[in-house]
Amino acid sequence: MSGCAKGQPVAATTAGCSLQRRGILLVVAGPSGVGKGAVIAGVCERRPEVHVSVSYTTRPPRPGEEHGRDYLFITREEFESLRDKGELLEWAIVHGDQCYGTPKGPIDEALQWGQDILLEIDYQGARSVRRLMGDQAALVFVAPPTWQALLDRLRKRHTEDADQIARRLASAREEIAHLGMFDYIIINDALEDAVMKLEAILLSERLRLARADWRGLQQRLLSEADALGQSVADAAGRGDPLA
Ligand code: 5GP
Repeated sequence: MSGCAKGQPVAATTAGCSLQRRGILLVVAGPSGVGKGAVIAGVCERRPEVHVSVSYTTRPPRPGEEHGRDYLFITREEFESLRDKGELLEWAIVHGDQCYGTPKGPIDEALQWGQDILLEIDYQGARSVRRLMGDQAALVFVAPPTWQALLDRLRKRHTEDADQIARRLASAREEIAHLGMFDYIIINDALEDAVMKLEAILLSERLRLARADWRGLQQRLLSEADALGQSVADAAGRGDPLA
């Protein structure tokens, strides 16, 4: 797990009150080159308590990529062993030939502590996460404003050769074809705006009743209402003005 956040985990609270809640698995998918990484980095800057999961991959590192920060670069045999031991939350073959997977252990632990985790994975992974985690996961699709914009971005980053770009464009079509299974869509035509939108999704998801341990609060408020109601009734009985 890479952090935006480091150090001891703390149980999350909702809306600044003392409501404990479960962590959110915020899945961010979308075509390669659409800028998912930059949008996630922007949210991490604004919300340093959020964790980003670091995936395993069998693809070789690109210049500048670091083992443990960008990916956990492993061999196919190592990947298959992790998969067979049940150590991956989800996994998929992406761009035709490379395996990518999310480590399960750190995610289970973080969610248990109420920490929010961002996953940058493909639509197949998103589908598996939905199947496994239900509504504990929120699925966000980042789309390009136009196909041409995606093409330009992929060409400009100079990290892939023509063959790899062609594979990524084929995957991009697949991603877009599966847009309907997502909960949210962000069109990334201006980075700052896209970052704000992903942050807004995170904040809204934090407020969902289904994630919160709300029964304690409900009980306390009702007990307070009963106690205060009684004292108000007593005051009225005595003819005292209401405080
Ligand atoms: P890249 O090779 O360009 O870094 O990543 C290619 C794609 O692999 C990303 O766009 C992302 O959607 C997907 N990906 C990265 N990590 C994972 C993972 O752990 N699981 C799945 N299913 N897809 C991943």
